Amino acid sequence: MADHYEVLGVSREATTDEIKKAYRRLARQLHPDVNPGEEASERFKLVTHAYDVLSDPEQRARYDMGGDGGFGGAGGFGGFGDIFETFFGAAGGNRGGRPRSRRERGQDALVRVTLDLGDVVFGVHRDIEVDTAVVCDTCEGSCCQPGTQPVRCDICQGSGHVQRQVRSLLGNVVTTQPCNVCQGYGTTIPYPCATCQGQGRVRSRRTVSLDIPAGVETGLRLQLPGSGEVGPAGGPNGDLYLEVTVAPHEVFSREGDDLLATLEVSMPDAILGTTTTIESLDGPVELELRPGVQAGDILTIKGRGITPLRGSQRGDLRVGVHVVTPTRLDAKERALIEEFAGRTKAPAPRLAEFHQGLFAKLRDRFRNG
Ligand code: ZN
Ligand code: ZN
Repeated sequence: MADHYEVLGVSREATTDEIKKAYRRLARQLHPDVNPGEEASERFKLVTHAYDVLSDPEQRARYDMGGDGGFGGAGGFGGFGDIFETFFGAAGGNRGGRPRSRRERGQDALVRVTLDLGDVVFGVHRDIEVDTAVVCDTCEGSCCQPGTQPVRCDICQGSGHVQRQVRSLLGNVVTTQPCNVCQGYGTTIPYPCATCQGQGRVRSRRTVSLDIPAGVETGLRLQLPGSGEVGPAGGPNGDLYLEVTVAPHEVFSREGDDLLATLEVSMPDAILGTTTTIESLDGPVELELRPGVQAGDILTIKGRGITPLRGSQRGDLRVGVHVVTPTRLDAKERALIEEFAGRTKAPAPRLAEFHQGLFAKLRDRFRNG
């Protein structure tokens, strides 16, 4: 096995500084990123291992006394990248190169809002209370008591990570781990801000004003970029999502962009026809029932439905006719109906195809709520 001093090209009396300089020079020549190839790679491992041993006073003493830890062929792997980074910064590789930033993007926030069907028809303006993290006013997100600053971590010298020599079957292996003392930030905060306990953000309730467009549906999420939680240490905000629930309406239900309802019509009105005024979601609408309108007929009122989310052409209001049969008749009414029946020679009940029309669907909708 090559002598570590020879590998680095330094004398046995070399100072730690000289050893460091020699390693730095050789590593620049031989690092696999700079000098790909089998031979350079093998030499780089040797150089790195030699440096590992000689830069650590304890190991160097042991080596000088003839007891090297043994450098199995693959020894030093996983290590040279880290040492290289220590000298040349993160440019040498991306593993553990830079300390972590305290600033991180905040989380997205979700707020639920319940709308009436009328809000959906036209769109609505809402002021919504949102409870999220916001930047701490006291420290303005710095996490430090005003007038103080983070200080460089002594344990990792500000790099955010520490190297640990692990003795394994393969020899000494250098691993890089986040520094426990500063959690990898490279700095510690000696005087955390008292308002936010050093988080740089506090929870706060605020009001977000927004226009909810027409045509939204239950389950739809509207995204408000940058209105979510502020990140730790004043990091950028996440997004705010507004999840819509549309409350069921006691009269109208929705099918696509159309509104559906049932119109209850008395038997005489169905027979004779009439004009009536109904309350649609946007005000009264005059509706004409032709004489002889049938139960199950659908009357369409154009353009009184919902404005679609994308588009401007409103849907229709469709009204299913339900003829209400009188259940309590006094003697005179009964006599009149009997007379009417006798005159019209109405056919006896007869079987026809089952009516799976919209009106049946409408009724089901009402039964199931
Ligand atoms: Zn603060
Ligand atoms: Zn540290």
